[in-house]
Amino acid sequence: MTSLTILDRDIIKACVRGAKLRGPRKLITSTMMVSYQFRQSRRRAVNDRMVPASIIISLTKRCNLKCQGCYHLMKDSSAEEMDSEHLLRICSEFEGLGTSIFVLAGGEPMMRWPVIKDMMSLHTRALFVMFTNGTLIDENVLKEMRDFDNLLLVLSQEGSESATDLRRGSGVGHCIKSLSRKLRDNGILFGYSITVHRGNVRIVTSDQNYDQMISEGASFISFVEYVPMQAGTESMTLTDDNRTLLISRLRCLRHRRNAVVLGFPGDEERFNGCLAAGRGFLHISPSGNVEACPAAPFSDRNLLSCPADEAVMSPLMTKLRDMHASLKEGGGGCALWSNKEEVSRILATNNDS
Ligand code: SF4
Repeated sequence: MTSLTILDRDIIKACVRGAKLRGPRKLITSTMMVSYQFRQSRRRAVNDRMVPASIIISLTKRCNLKCQGCYHLMKDSSAEEMDSEHLLRICSEFEGLGTSIFVLAGGEPMMRWPVIKDMMSLHTRALFVMFTNGTLIDENVLKEMRDFDNLLLVLSQEGSESATDLRRGSGVGHCIKSLSRKLRDNGILFGYSITVHRGNVRIVTSDQNYDQMISEGASFISFVEYVPMQAGTESMTLTDDNRTLLISRLRCLRHRRNAVVLGFPGDEERFNGCLAAGRGFLHISPSGNVEACPAAPFSDRNLLSCPADEAVMSPLMTKLRDMHASLKEGGGGCALWSNKEEVSRILATNNDS
């Protein structure tokens, strides 16, 4: 019994706002999508399960890039990634429970474009938000993407071309800029995701950078705070002053109303606390583990052996939801990760009982 969170409403707003810029057909389908979102919200309301409107599915651990500080590359990735049949079943199970937004991540999700097309074709009213490095989207893929009105692409970048090259590899910055032009010209909805750290918080949240992204056609911008999952990178985390600046800049940029602006977890206050563990979203790992959040890979259920309606009510997810108000963020962008000892203790206790 969950309604649409502020986060869900922001994502939907981004689609409608983007559709307005892209002609009547997109506007009609996005209107139908909005009514579907409220239909699913009513479906969740009658459900005694804690089903989030959004689930984040990491489709693969594979990626064609090796970005500095990428925490996917650091995660234990020995487990097999799920096959297409399981992924499609999981989408149908969650949609049946009332989920209406599927956030696709990785690794690089475009490594599994064929199953993504199947997902979007089977769930035409659900919204698919794909976080991608953009480098695998060529002319053929662009042609195919034009047919999907339920797709919102979110391109990962670091502000300028040079900053993007520095973190993600030579030429990636230029690739993203030229791709954004093609997406706009093909009427495909897109936005940007920027990792915010101590070294770039002032530049990436500047009016100049924002105006640049809007002029390129973005209707959605997410600022993701750097989480030091790699030991020794704590110096990149935002200081308290940085975080105060980030939150005030997000507020300013949001008032400009030509794109939806989100901060993770900067907006937790706005979201009424951490949305992990099903309060706003759940994360599904490439091997099917149901995790609290991509930045907090704690899990006690796997969807290859457990149905979705049981997994959302698992002892760990229920406990983390119950204690969300007590989990305080401390130095580095994620309340659960900052309290990983406590969470691991809960997990161990649950496993013993
Ligand atoms: S594109 Fe994403 S998943 Fe791939 S290396 Fe870079 S940060 Fe990691």
